[in-house]
Amino acid sequence: MLEFSIQLDCKNFNKDLDLFHQSICHCEKCPLSKTRQNFVFGFGNPRSKIIFVGEAPGKQEDLKGLPFVGRSGMLLDEILSEIDLRREDIYICNVLKCRPPKNRNPLRYEVQKCEPYLLKQLQIIKPNLIVALGRIAAGTILRTNEPLKNLRNKIFKYADIDLLVTYHPAALLRNPNFKKSVWQDFKLIQKEYLN
Ligand code: URA
Repeated sequence: MLEFSIQLDCKNFNKDLDLFHQSICHCEKCPLSKTRQNFVFGFGNPRSKIIFVGEAPGKQEDLKGLPFVGRSGMLLDEILSEIDLRREDIYICNVLKCRPPKNRNPLRYEVQKCEPYLLKQLQIIKPNLIVALGRIAAGTILRTNEPLKNLRNKIFKYADIDLLVTYHPAALLRNPNFKKSVWQDFKLIQKEYLN
């Protein structure tokens, strides 16, 4: 497992984002506040033009208070490096900021309570692109039950920002056949949003 430092250098500090984090980190709007170890706000460069959004913290994320620090996070780092990015260059967060027990899917009520936090993060960071990681994150944000393969290769809008969908790294760990599609998705991101 990766060891992450929460230390923020100046480059990765944004006062508005930090104040917002402080204002919501004791949130008790839904019952997940009772079972969480840590509120997982997000991590990365608040000036990033790209924000990656997963579904919800898992066990390791809950323990560390940081997104994508388990096996999927390691794989995400590897994929990012293929397009010359490090996690410190981009911003990563989740739709839900607290871990659902046993990693079950987010409930509609939880999303209702938590989504305004994501919207505020987007308003502060102002990215050019949101990358939704996996069917649950994408389906929740876009309010659709479409299978993930039907959502790839399309530019959606969320909060007036371009949104692309790709497989969740955990899906890739389960099924390496998705590798080619993920590679194509990240090449598209590189071509259209990083040059
Ligand atoms: N899966 C997610 O969707 N988010 C995390 O932070 C970790 C695993």
